Amino acid sequence: MAKKLVFKPYSPNQLNLLPPSLEDLIENNHPVRLVNHVIDSVNIDGLVKQYKGGGTSSYHPRMLLKILIYGYLNNIYSSRKMEASVKENIHFMWLSGMSRPDHNTLNRFRSEKLKEGLESVFSQVVMLLADQGLVSLKEIYTDGTKIEANANKYTFVWGNAIRTNRERMSRQLKELWAYSQQVAVEELNDTSAISFEAADPEKVKQTIQEIDKAISGKEIPQKVKQKLNYVKKNFVENLKKYEQHEKILADRNSYSKTDHDATFMRMKEDHMLNGQLKPGYNLQISTNNQFILNYTLHQQPNDSTTLKNHLTHFNKLYNRLPVNVIADAGYGSEENYLWCDQHNITPYIKYNTFYKDETKAHKKNKFVASNLRYDKQEDILYCPINEPMYNVGTHRDKSRNDFTQIVTHYQAQSCTGCELRDACHQSKGDRVVKINHNLRKYKAQVHALLTSEKGLKLRRQRCVDVEPVFANIKQNKKFKRFNLRGIKKVEIETGLLALAHNLKKMNGKLS
Ligand code: SF4
Repeated sequence: MAKKLVFKPYSPNQLNLLPPSLEDLIENNHPVRLVNHVIDSVNIDGLVKQYKGGGTSSYHPRMLLKILIYGYLNNIYSSRKMEASVKENIHFMWLSGMSRPDHNTLNRFRSEKLKEGLESVFSQVVMLLADQGLVSLKEIYTDGTKIEANANKYTFVWGNAIRTNRERMSRQLKELWAYSQQVAVEELNDTSAISFEAADPEKVKQTIQEIDKAISGKEIPQKVKQKLNYVKKNFVENLKKYEQHEKILADRNSYSKTDHDATFMRMKEDHMLNGQLKPGYNLQISTNNQFILNYTLHQQPNDSTTLKNHLTHFNKLYNRLPVNVIADAGYGSEENYLWCDQHNITPYIKYNTFYKDETKAHKKNKFVASNLRYDKQEDILYCPINEPMYNVGTHRDKSRNDFTQIVTHYQAQSCTGCELRDACHQSKGDRVVKINHNLRKYKAQVHALLTSEKGLKLRRQRCVDVEPVFANIKQNKKFKRFNLRGIKKVEIETGLLALAHNLKKMNGKLS
């Protein structure tokens, strides 16, 4: 016998006597409640100050901020999708109080109003976490990652290419001048005011005019005529263009024409496995207990040069500096150790040879410079056979970051005839060893820190503190490319992302 079919009642058109409250439809420990509660409790005076007043009424900045943060928390980064969500999604509807800001309003608020005030909201949320004992501002784990910019990877400008072009132009101009001097000796016998260095478009223009005037009416080969025409047509214009590029480049070697602030960098995610550089930003974060405490964006791909600015930003947010900074070898430089020293920060920061120095082979190798004995009082270094190496001069080396390192050179007295000559060094004369005493001192201090019980614990924690945050942002939140252009706007996106990450994590800890 066939069984009786039973369906649950379904009557979508039935009117309710009382409309259902959205409040009743949202679970008690849902993240949307936490976003609402936390953003209600922070001071948004900085944001309110961005409004000039007058004209029609505006949507409340607190509501718009909640929508944006909740959007980022749910991997919704597009303002059009947020606009759809405030019409369709009960969580967004509840959060917006049934207001329906359109994508233009949301985008303008994100790009313009959040330029000021978002950092303050971020730091207040972190302080709230600290008050609840969820984070400590004393110990921070710092690391960086490259995130692709919203820019075309094929519209690039390279500083090296500009330099090469300038040199080529200068060479061609010199050749043209030399030729012209042969055919117009009298006209071109004074070169004092002439510029071949192709630096200043005005001077180059003057040089070209001189050449043109001197050889006009003279019998010159077609090839030279063509060259001169090319120079007349292109050089000055190109130089003006290069000047503009160099202004945008500042101290970088590249930028993208579609986002001038983005620099070409090697990304970790190289799906084509061709090592192609892409326009992006170097995002630095500091975490504690997997919460983001500080974020900064940098235009240089090298992590080492970012630490000072990153920690200065930490100080700006919380009016204090951390006690301990834990970071990998990418940050271990004399400049960073010195800065930490000057600011009473204990650097649990590896240096690039940390692991190599720990190997048995390295420790046993009596020839390496770092294993040579140094007598500080006498200022003498002792070579592998315990012969003195004397100080033969001190040199100042500038790092890429314009930091001056002082390097002392010590030279052996007589390597000729030494039995260990071949194993000891390859240079022609007596061995010279370069020692940066300051760095050597810092390395010894950092080595003691990193190999202490506390150091080992912090190093272990670093791998499970800051690195999973990047994994969460890139894998779970699918945030692999910025949506806005220009470093100021990209900073806003990062702030929203960091707030969303912290609130989601806070919700997980509290529920
Ligand atoms: S080669 Fe020169 S520096 Fe090396 S062990 Fe011999 S004397 Fe010393």
